[in-house]
This record gives sequence, structure tokens and C-alpha cells, in this order.
Amino acid sequence: MKEIELIGDNHITTSVDTPLRSDAFERTDEEKIENIKGHFAKIMEELGLDLTDESLSGTPNRVAKMYVKEMFYGLDPKNKPKLTTFDNNIGYKKMLVEQNIDLDSACEHHFLPITGHAHIAYIPKDKLIGISKLNRLVDYYSRRPQGQERLCLQIMQDLQKVLEIEDVMVVINAKHSCISSRGIKDKNSFTTTMEYGGAFNEANVRNEFFETIKSKING
Ligand SMILES: [Zn+2]
Repeated sequence: MKEIELIGDNHITTSVDTPLRSDAFERTDEEKIENIKGHFAKIMEELGLDLTDESLSGTPNRVAKMYVKEMFYGLDPKNKPKLTTFDNNIGYKKMLVEQNIDLDSACEHHFLPITGHAHIAYIPKDKLIGISKLNRLVDYYSRRPQGQERLCLQIMQDLQKVLEIEDVMVVINAKHSCISSRGIKDKNSFTTTMEYGGAFNEANVRNEFFETIKSKING
């Protein structure tokens, strides 16, 4: 409890891996929906809402389904996209950039939306990856309670692993609803995170990437 209080409103993430319980996937999605439905009904009742009202009665079920099937399906490894790679027979050895990838996530501190874009670059050696897999990987890791810093690292590390290279860079620009609609209530700020390895440690290589994405970098 003390640690939770210390972290408070600061968006500090504690580990690259999302902290999961060892029994995280023992129950089926349907069992989880049923349980969350009951828990959410309790929250609404505690707030004083009358769940017999026609407009409210379906909300616990809708929220439960939305959590398990839409907002947080990326918690479950069974939903991870297959990151198929293929041999770089064409000998493409320069930078590949996939930019402006839509990102919908939720902050793990408030369960409020994080929305923005991811931009990914890699410099292949022996392997290439299907381009849409980059979009799918962003979606997968976004669909869980997240910290933007961790999200950036999780995407980069997976790509480094499957492509068998260090030369990957991930930039994320995102707006956090917990900053815009509560707390400080700043509507215009957005957050940029970047993680990189290998050749991207060189400023000129990073700059080539920034130059490529510059029209898309402002959130
Ligand atoms: Zn937050």
C-alpha cells in the first residue's frame, strides 16, 4: 500500500514486462466478463446509480465485455499477432519506416484512454517482417493497461528479438486523458517517448528517421 501511495500520480513504470498474476489466464474470457460485470455493477451501485433504469442496466455487461474483448485483449498472449519474418533475399539493408500507426491504449494508473501514434524504424540484416505486423504489434501491446514508456520498450524489444538485430527505433506520441480531463486538465500537451538500439545510437541515423517522420511527429 505504501508504495502505491508513493507512486501516486506520477506515471512511473516499474518493469518492462506488464506485471501479471501467475493465475492471469486460468479463467476463460467468458468467466472474466461475468465476474467483472458483477464487480462493475457494485461500483455503480456504490456511486448511487439505480441499475434498474433501462439506460443503465446493460452498462456492467457492456463495460465487462469492453475490458476483456476490446480494451485489454492485449494482456492475453493468445491474442499476440504471429510475427512472421522472412529471409531478406532481396538484400534490403537500409532503413524501413512505418509511421503514423494508430494507437489506442489506456493508462494503468487511471484506466483512462491514451491515444496517439507510433512510428517504427528498423535496419534489416538477414530478416524482414511483414509491414502490417508492425501495426498489429503496436495494437497488441496497446490493448492493455499501459505506461507509455513500457509500451515503447515492449514493441522495440519484440522486434529486436524476431528480426535478430539491435537496430530498431520506436517513437510514440500520445495524449493521456488523465492529463487532459482530470488532474492538471491540460488539453494540449502530449507525450513523446523514444527507445532505440544499435545503429540508432548514432545521432545521424536517428535524424534520418526524424526527418522521415517529421510531418507526423506532432501528436
Ligand atoms: Zn494516468
